[in-house]
Amino acid sequence: MRTVHNFSAGPGALPRSVLTQVEKDLFSYRDTGVSVMELSHRSAPIVELINDTTDRFRALLELDDKWEVILLQGGGSLQFVMAPLNLSMEGDHVDYVDTGYWSQRAIKEVGRCHRDVHVFSNGRPGNYDYLPGPDDIKTRQDARYLHICTNNTVVGTQWHQLPRVDAPLVIDASSDLLSRHIPLDNVNCLYAHAQKNSGLAGVTVVAVRKSALLPDQGLPYILDYRSHIDQHSNYHTPPVFSIYVTNLMLKWLEYDIGGLDMMSQLNTEKSQILYDAIDNSDLFSCPVIQKDRSQMNVVFSTGSKETDAQFIAYCQENNMTGVAGHRSRGGMRVSLYNAVTLDDIQALIDSMHTFEQYN
Ligand SMILES: *Cc1c(COP(=O)(O)O)cnc(C)c1O
Repeated sequence: MRTVHNFSAGPGALPRSVLTQVEKDLFSYRDTGVSVMELSHRSAPIVELINDTTDRFRALLELDDKWEVILLQGGGSLQFVMAPLNLSMEGDHVDYVDTGYWSQRAIKEVGRCHRDVHVFSNGRPGNYDYLPGPDDIKTRQDARYLHICTNNTVVGTQWHQLPRVDAPLVIDASSDLLSRHIPLDNVNCLYAHAQKNSGLAGVTVVAVRKSALLPDQGLPYILDYRSHIDQHSNYHTPPVFSIYVTNLMLKWLEYDIGGLDMMSQLNTEKSQILYDAIDNSDLFSCPVIQKDRSQMNVVFSTGSKETDAQFIAYCQENNMTGVAGHRSRGGMRVSLYNAVTLDDIQALIDSMHTFEQYN
């Protein structure tokens, strides 16, 4: 049993069984007599590990051979740059939706990529407590793509239905990949770092439609998806340990949880009991409108900075960590990534009840 309930927004909690396996393998990976960190990235066990990991992503995301799947470094942040460079050309129209913190970081980076950027919003600048409706965005006729963040980690919103637009989508799913099915029929590219929901920091998965890759534009090789595709995610030394832990997470999701449908059901249940507790409370409230609430990051507050701080301290004393809101927002934010259990959430709800009684 865990002794601390970890609601960290990222890097997120890992399942106990994954950590136990890491401990077991630490000094000798698959009978090689050396740890996974010390093996050549060209050796057979590591090449197999990389291929098995991309295959597992492919299977869990139900990607056919129209897609390429690669594992990269540089986090979600590098994809803010690599996606526009690979999926559009200088001067092209590219459309973005501003839904708060991380989407803004993506918009800031593309602003330096010499593209013609248009930004959509929900029409209420500064208020990110709800998303534009699925039919509210009309992409420009020749837009290469529309970029969205599927789950807004900081403000606690999530697209439960992707926007219906003419342009293909590029999605940053860093904080909800493998938490649910995301329909990919109008998606050209999906990227997500692993450290929130699907593995360890240091590895980022990119799935890109072959048909969306443009002819060679003379990009630096390291920034060109094709270098990594051609070399099967082994173009340069990959982050082997991160890939290894991510591989364990994918196996855990498949064998311990029972696959993506089961994970999705569980995540719905997990977030539902917490939102119910907040909505039924006289002390706590959630600013996000019901239909756009995130199943991954639950944002709430008491309306008083002092009381919020007291509640966060109270959680810490009771072995609950990662409850404080993002530094830009204050209040509370509880992240319910895949590895967070119903028991963890029940412990939090119990603390909310007790705290409320004394306030
Ligand atoms: C955390 C986060 C990022 C940033 O990822 P890094 O790996 O730190 O670069 C990007 N997008 C979203 C949606 C995030 O939640």
